[in-house]
Amino acid sequence: MRIVFVGPPGSGKGTQAKRIQRKLGIPHISSGDMLREAVSKGTALGKQAESYMKKGALVPDSLVIDMIMERINQPDAEKGFILDGFPRTLPQAEALDEALSKSDQQIQHVIHFDVSDGEIIARSTARRLDPETGKIYNIKYDLPPPEIMSRLVQRSDDNEETVKNRLAKYHEETEAILDFYRQKTNVKKISGVGSFEEVEERLLKALKNE
Ligand code: AMP
Repeated sequence: MRIVFVGPPGSGKGTQAKRIQRKLGIPHISSGDMLREAVSKGTALGKQAESYMKKGALVPDSLVIDMIMERINQPDAEKGFILDGFPRTLPQAEALDEALSKSDQQIQHVIHFDVSDGEIIARSTARRLDPETGKIYNIKYDLPPPEIMSRLVQRSDDNEETVKNRLAKYHEETEAILDFYRQKTNVKKISGVGSFEEVEERLLKALKNE
């Protein structure tokens, strides 16, 4: 099953992808996680991407497209994948479509996570990362165990100004890809507000076309 998650940054796409990837037996592929790893490893890609990411701007299409094409060609993604954070622009969506159609494949499900801008700002600025495990917590909604609280850090792009930039980019560019997919497949909009379990239930129903 080839799935694309679309939604504003901080709408819970990554959290839900992590929850369902084992159930569906397909990997969660997050462009943001891959880019952060490249930055922390200091690779050539990381060095080129870093300044864009710090500002909350989009990394140039060509860099991200090459990175994702290489990833979806790995053996673990043969039966499908959950793409989270990619495609984020029309050229990215078109490049993905073209690459898949060469091997007679296509995106079967596009899930649109609907969360208001106000809720996104409140959530993102309360988000904390555990640098040791990579796990994301939220000091408002998903409290970390008290013993690890002191080692948690805020992602450098989770401050209010950067979150607003990322939201503006989302509205400017990413929503256009929904129109692109509406012409090809059934785009399902689900509310991303509620408990993790509630959102997961909506998501699994949408994937079963219920
Ligand atoms: P995310 O973790 O998905 O919020 O991504 C973090 C940052 O990585 C974004 O603010 C962008 O700077 C960059 N990024 C992630 N995915 C993409 C993409 N598909 N296209 C361009 N930039 C991206």
